[in-house]
Amino acid sequence: MNFISTRGKVRECGFIDTFLMGLGDDGGLMIPETIPAVSRETLAEWEGLSYQDLMLAIFSLYTNGEIPGQDLKELVYESYAGFRSPEVAPLTALNDSLYVLELYHGPTFAFKDVALQFMGNLYAYVARKQNKVINILGATSGDTGAAAISGVRSKEGIQICILHPHGKVSRVQELQMTTVQDDNVLNLSVKGNFDDCQQIIKELFADLEFKTKYHLRAINSINFVRILAQTVYYFYAYFRLPEEARAKGVSFSIPTGNFGNIFSGYLAKKMGLPIDKLILATNENNILQRFVHEGVYMPDKFYSTHSPSMDIQIASNFERYLYYLCGGNANETGQRMERFKSEGKLVFGEAELQQIQKDFAAHSVNGEECLQTIQAYEGRYGYLLDPHSACGIAASEKFSQGEICISLATAHPAKFDEAISLCGIKQTFPQAIEQLFDKPQHQVIVEHSKQDVVEQLEQFYRA
Ligand SMILES: *Cc1c(COP(=O)(O)O)cnc(C)c1O
Repeated sequence: MNFISTRGKVRECGFIDTFLMGLGDDGGLMIPETIPAVSRETLAEWEGLSYQDLMLAIFSLYTNGEIPGQDLKELVYESYAGFRSPEVAPLTALNDSLYVLELYHGPTFAFKDVALQFMGNLYAYVARKQNKVINILGATSGDTGAAAISGVRSKEGIQICILHPHGKVSRVQELQMTTVQDDNVLNLSVKGNFDDCQQIIKELFADLEFKTKYHLRAINSINFVRILAQTVYYFYAYFRLPEEARAKGVSFSIPTGNFGNIFSGYLAKKMGLPIDKLILATNENNILQRFVHEGVYMPDKFYSTHSPSMDIQIASNFERYLYYLCGGNANETGQRMERFKSEGKLVFGEAELQQIQKDFAAHSVNGEECLQTIQAYEGRYGYLLDPHSACGIAASEKFSQGEICISLATAHPAKFDEAISLCGIKQTFPQAIEQLFDKPQHQVIVEHSKQDVVEQLEQFYRA
């Protein structure tokens, strides 16, 4: 298995090099040269596997044996040992046709833990085995930062710097990142929004001289390993459904921001998991919903919403889908991304729009609908949804026609009490969140300026 860039200008490379590269050196995103096909027989064999063993089976299709089997097994088991559910990602039935896939049982209470606990361990492993300097740099709308820091704090040979938008993450998200004491962690609070943070990061990763000098490594979903780790729970959830349910057809509804999670579902489907619809749920920041409905990809006004982890205009994983939409034509993909950069939008023709609408359904959930959904599900099922998961549920309702829908619950409600209390609901915090409120915070507030960020990094990283 080789990995290539969506823009076609990176020499083919293996699994670990792809992991270390993050963003492709040509500015594209790394993808497998061919997507391994999983036969129905293999699916049947995988059905009874534990979460960890399923992950091993899926990863072994991509890792070329670059990580010895026993090592990979230890990495995977260690990554999920700290989860509060032994199943890692348990599936809960709300009624005959609607299921919630709970992805928030990791240390920072959001789905990002599923991939980032593993990536933290994998970085530590590569640092040890290959004696590589690992300086992680990432931008977060809140949850990625917390999960990445939790995944690598105090680990030998790794430094991590995370940019978050100042005052635009939830209180708990901020505390999860900034109350960490370890000196291998630097939090930069940037006076701007998430897209500004992501833009700075993208420019630094595209500056090959800087990237090489400081050995920059990515944890954002531009990293293919993160995408791959997230495909596991699509398979796992599918296998947990009763046989008769599967026969009706199974759709997934996914609260979406950077298009990473839903792209993992798209990859699972391309590998052969019989997924019916991938339902893309957004909040008022609905560039992706407009893309699916109108065939135009164009950023619009930025809104701060109840679901801040989805307050994103430019979806960093969009390019991966674009590559497949262009029939795997890397030149065409690169040209279109250039056009997007210069013209600020992409317009798709009728045939492409049909394909897009075959691949995805989409719904944009506004603030009121989000809060109403939280209240309704608390009332009807005694199930408290966080505002992101509520967007997924609201979108699933729009498209439900009796088939099975698995809606992804991407965060625990305690992370977003701002929205929950607006619903007039009082929740009790888990102990691990409660105790954050008394701890001192460590962060540096910087202007929205690449130069200011660079100065901080030059002091912090080991070259
Ligand atoms: C990151 C995040 C999302 C969006 O996921 P993408 O992979 O960026 O599309 C949705 N919900 C929560 C709680 C998140 O943390």
